[in-house]
Amino acid sequence: MVPFKKSFESSVINTIKRYSLASKNERIIVACSGGKDSTTVLNILHANHYNVQALHMDLGMGKWSKQNKKNIASFCKERGIVLHLTSAREYMGSSVCYIKGKVQAKKKLTPCAICGVLKKWILNRKSRELKADKVATGHNLDDESRTFMMNIFNGNPELCFDSGPMKEMGEGLLVPRIKPLYLTSVKDIERYSMENNFPVVYERCPCSADSFGRGIYNEITALERYLPDIKENIVKTSLEMQSKKKKQAGVIRCRLCGEPSRKGICRTCSMISSNLPKN
Ligand code: SF4
Ligand code: ZN
Repeated sequence: MVPFKKSFESSVINTIKRYSLASKNERIIVACSGGKDSTTVLNILHANHYNVQALHMDLGMGKWSKQNKKNIASFCKERGIVLHLTSAREYMGSSVCYIKGKVQAKKKLTPCAICGVLKKWILNRKSRELKADKVATGHNLDDESRTFMMNIFNGNPELCFDSGPMKEMGEGLLVPRIKPLYLTSVKDIERYSMENNFPVVYERCPCSADSFGRGIYNEITALERYLPDIKENIVKTSLEMQSKKKKQAGVIRCRLCGEPSRKGICRTCSMISSNLPKN
């Protein structure tokens, strides 16, 4: 029998090949939170000789953020991987936590909805500055199936076209985002991370209060009892929908910051309405 670690790594490499996510001459920045998912992506790409560097974003969430930063720094140091650091402070002048408080005083949004938008904006800007060809994230099968169902329940089917193992947009506005763990379950990632003794924090983020997302996740997971492939099936549906819609239409630049947007003003600028450095 093939040992677990080996079969796990092969399945991730198969996903990369199947969807042509990356080639070895591309410069890949892995967005590393310091958690098990992104650390796993970084480890597999590095061990398989992809040209990787790590990027960690300090979210300024007290002890939890400090520990994550320390962990990813020691992981990279041990393997000789270049680690870049960034934060909301670098572009927005304050920590994600602080901005979240300000936005929530005006808009009814969950901490994760705000944090997610800010993180994507910073990730795209920073990785473009670092001249990345691709940005790899740790999104996994469980994340993807949950997000798909959340979009459906929220009445936003058009957002379902936004996911997929690789996201690209025209004109080089968005550094293509790849998800090597797109078809990999969180259970297997946790096992792989533990068997490798990765220095990672397994506790959830202290600011995560997305009870709707968590509720959907719990429901889908409970249904695995009757339909073990439920998450794979959801992701398969998502992939079929995306293949029917060939090209993302209507991507334009935000008038305020110049980052990609579907409307005249991007979601980050409409949240924080301050002057972000223009691209
Ligand atoms: Fe941000 Fe939510 Fe993720 Fe915490 S769980 S890092 S608040 S998106
Ligand atoms: Zn903007």
